Amino acid sequence: MSVNAKVVIVGCGISGIAAAHRLVNAGFQHVQILEATARCGGRIKTDTLGDNIVEIGAHWIHGPTEENPVFCLARQYGLLDPETLTPENQGVDFEVSPHQASNYFSSSGRKLNAEDVYPAEEMFYGLIYESSKFESQGGEPWACVGDFIRSKAEQRAAEKWKNIDAATRCLRLCVISNMLKVECCFNGAHSMDEVGLGAYGLYKTLPGLDCTFPGGYEGLIKNLMSELPRDLVTYNWPVRCVHWNNTEKEENSLMIECDDEKKIAADHVIVTVSLGYLKKHHSTLFSPPLSLHKLHSVERLGFGTTNVIYVEFDSPWWDADCENIYLMWEDEDGMVDQVPDVQRSCIKKLFGFTVLKPTERYGHVLCGWIAGHESEYMETLSEQEVTHTMTQLIRRFTGNPTVTPRRALRSQWFHDPWTCGSYCQLPRKRLLSPGPGEHDGASAYRWVTFTTSAGVVCWRGYSYLLLFHRSWSTPHWVERS
Ligand SMILES: Cc1cc2nc3c(=O)[nH]c(=O)nc-3n(C[C@H](O)[C@H](O)[C@H](O)COP(=O)(O)OP(=O)(O)OC[C@H]3O[C@@H](n4cnc5c(N)ncnc54)[C@H](O)[C@@H]3O)c2cc1C
Repeated sequence: MSVNAKVVIVGCGISGIAAAHRLVNAGFQHVQILEATARCGGRIKTDTLGDNIVEIGAHWIHGPTEENPVFCLARQYGLLDPETLTPENQGVDFEVSPHQASNYFSSSGRKLNAEDVYPAEEMFYGLIYESSKFESQGGEPWACVGDFIRSKAEQRAAEKWKNIDAATRCLRLCVISNMLKVECCFNGAHSMDEVGLGAYGLYKTLPGLDCTFPGGYEGLIKNLMSELPRDLVTYNWPVRCVHWNNTEKEENSLMIECDDEKKIAADHVIVTVSLGYLKKHHSTLFSPPLSLHKLHSVERLGFGTTNVIYVEFDSPWWDADCENIYLMWEDEDGMVDQVPDVQRSCIKKLFGFTVLKPTERYGHVLCGWIAGHESEYMETLSEQEVTHTMTQLIRRFTGNPTVTPRRALRSQWFHDPWTCGSYCQLPRKRLLSPGPGEHDGASAYRWVTFTTSAGVVCWRGYSYLLLFHRSWSTPHWVERS
């Protein structure tokens, strides 16, 4: 491939920016990024709440070690706190990482003793660990993580907790419901019933204590962008269709059609839109359409919604050392992770909050997490309704009728027309059966289950579907791909 070739990249998230970097550094002279919106970064998006920097999209570098290119770049640009760079931090094994101090509240307005909650947490994390072992063991006795956890928890609760009183036992089952909602947020899933048991073990966890960007994740984007030619990105240019089968012509065999009938010729195109966007628009985004084999991969992978709701307070109502706050609904002893009446009570899906630390930097700000269809419905409420709902929720759980947030801010990833959700999840096996033209379900299984962002590369009459690998989360794999 000649460095004189014209390469168009669709999308200016970290995937598009990383692709442009590689090409420009390899000497390509004619690289152009077309971005639908007025900004770069995509799902890496930093905002402010009052005076505080908050992340609307990606939060953490998961596994900040040498293996992780995002960590290496962030370190190179001087974007991380010094303690993040210590060998001790990098040596932390995620599976035995230090216990984080948490506060637990119940829907009747009680602060719960941590000792009452631990047995349920311990059982839940044990089952999550076991869930990750089915891939290597080959067997998959339950179709999904949700079924496995419920079934095993029921059995173990009957054995281990048979001598405890009914109220404590009931509370522990409510804790399991809460932990299932936490997992929904991690997995971008509506329910853990959507997440395949065999696929769950395919996550790769890098060592190191997860870390954040003190000045915001977008600092990474700004630094990467500063190393690219200034006019490389064209903003507010949504691509409508990639015409990719023009094999006759020697040069510029691809035509990229944008809104307002604008057309751009290119030799190669790299499409880095989210999997959510690809699922919704693949039929019009490519002409001719992608092959059935590729479409099958796109369709089989799950792509769901996780949103954040930040709330700021004048003073904390949680303990000084608290890192996480969990909200237990006392009517949820059925180990449920879905809310029956989404429109009336979508907020029941919010599992609780992470406390932004250190307090000297962030003040008293909590980040609430909510996944699934409940999260998608939350996006349709006005900002005032969200603030009101959060106020009522916190008053109910703390039993304090005067606690009032100073302000709130939420994300709306599902209704973002250029993202259509947050990130992918690992689907159930029935969705991973061999697709048209595939003899072996296993290869498709490996490909699709790791994916978060789907990239399509069109190369002179051929199209390749690249499925970017994912560990707990994503920019580091995206950057590497
Ligand atoms: C709430 C949330 C929390 C997350 N937390 C973490 C985390 O803690 N750690 C982590 O590693 N990852 C996290 N992620 C995932 C991470 O943000 C994404 O995986 C990553 O940013 C994806 O980058 P991308 O470039 O592949 O896609 P995107 O960032 O989605 O970029 C795609 C770009 O394409 C543009 N586009 C779309 N359609 C068109 C079109 N037709 N024409 C032109 N342009 C178009 C979009 O506007 C966008 O700019 C989180 C994501 C969310 C939503």
